[in-house]
Amino acid sequence: MLHVIGGGLAGLTAAWEAGRAGLAVTLYEASPQPGGRCRTLAQAQLGEIDNGNHLVMQANTTMMALLQRLGTLPDCYRLTAIPLLDAATGRIGQQKTGRWHLLRGHLPGGSLSGWRQIWQIGYDLCRRKNAPITVAEMVKDWPNRALHLMLARSVLNTPPEAASAGMYQAVLRQLLLKSAVAYVPRHGWGEVLIAPLIHACDQQGVRRIHARVTALNWQKNQLRQICFGNETINIEQGDQVILAVPWGQAHRLLPEAVPPAPMHHSIVNGHFDLRAVLDAAAIAALPPVTGLVNDDGVEWVFRRGWIASTTSSAAGELAARHRIQQAEICWQAVRRAFGIANSITPPTHRIITEKRATFSATEAALALRPAAATRLHNVRLAGDYVQSALPATLEAAARSGRLAACWAKKHAKRQV
Ligand SMILES: Cc1cc2nc3c(=O)[nH]c(=O)nc-3n(C[C@H](O)[C@H](O)[C@H](O)COP(=O)(O)OP(=O)(O)OC[C@H]3O[C@@H](n4cnc5c(N)ncnc54)[C@H](O)[C@@H]3O)c2cc1C
Repeated sequence: MLHVIGGGLAGLTAAWEAGRAGLAVTLYEASPQPGGRCRTLAQAQLGEIDNGNHLVMQANTTMMALLQRLGTLPDCYRLTAIPLLDAATGRIGQQKTGRWHLLRGHLPGGSLSGWRQIWQIGYDLCRRKNAPITVAEMVKDWPNRALHLMLARSVLNTPPEAASAGMYQAVLRQLLLKSAVAYVPRHGWGEVLIAPLIHACDQQGVRRIHARVTALNWQKNQLRQICFGNETINIEQGDQVILAVPWGQAHRLLPEAVPPAPMHHSIVNGHFDLRAVLDAAAIAALPPVTGLVNDDGVEWVFRRGWIASTTSSAAGELAARHRIQQAEICWQAVRRAFGIANSITPPTHRIITEKRATFSATEAALALRPAAATRLHNVRLAGDYVQSALPATLEAAARSGRLAACWAKKHAKRQV
């Protein structure tokens, strides 16, 4: 029997993979609705919206394979070029997502001025033993600095002045070696990822239980019990456990194996109903994603159906503001990106703040990431925070879930 605790992307992926391999799987999820930070929220006026606006790169091979196997990749936009608005100058450019275009940059004034700069950037990206510098320090002489500052902030969800240059280099290397093409769902991640994964788990006979794990009891090197308030289940000899909860929860449940979670940063998303301000044809003509460079508060404006959604990463300052100010700031970004008249006030909207969206990708925090293997022989960790060369993203979560399932399959084979 495999027990999976946590029904976010890592837990669902692990449960599905293990179920496909014929393991008997039980999944425990604290919330009535699985999906974790990638869950869907039902809104009276806006319909279904994503908790977060997720953008996934084609270089994220686990995510691509997952979407392909679920058969939902065709329900995503494949972005080979993304419009970019330079908020400082008001000029609109376009970032092609071909590998080399990312380095060259197509921002106004962002073209490379010579081979020396290409060499410098290549050198920065290839350095193996990086001095622990920040992203802001690394890109200070790069010609398309503003674009990299915005990308690093959103990929690492950390202010570039603190974010690890090594982690950003790892991301850029992936984009350059594999692909910088991006994917976003036409309607939402609930539709293309979470709902199909739940369905796939159900089809594989995964038992899903809505219950919060309150404690884990262990003896020597074995986990012995999973507790849910007043109820307890025993872990039998040969059973395995995948702990796929967020970092803070994992530390609370297994303080011996998981170090305390470092600082986390918030992400603020604003969702706006465009139907009150634009007609259907004008809405349909808007791009699915627009990037904002040199903008104070917002990095991306998405358009899904008739909803415009903004993303502000490492958004401590914005998160601390009053809801009305947050809506105003996010709406101004939508207006700028979509060329909507200044006089129009925010239409029906919802602001969602995820206070602890992902951990701060500083050198110090990255060094704390725990390995998936713990000193308990029958437990594996899964989740976006588990040690890997990836930042805390959907790819990191899905990959760690898949690897944990591989461990469970191997373990189960040995028992036979
Ligand atoms: C607003 C926002 C925007 C983002 N944008 C992007 C993006 O553009 N691209 C990208 O790749 N990534 C993005 N991310 C990051 C991505 O969402 C996460 O990395 C990923 O969803 C983490 O999945 P997980 O399974 O590791 O954890 P979670 O999604 O947190 O899942 C953990 C699950 O465990 C459950 N749980 C917790 N405690 C218990 C308990 N005691 N008992 C039982 N169950 C428990 C929770 O309810 C939850 O369902 C974003 C995140 C946010 C919040």
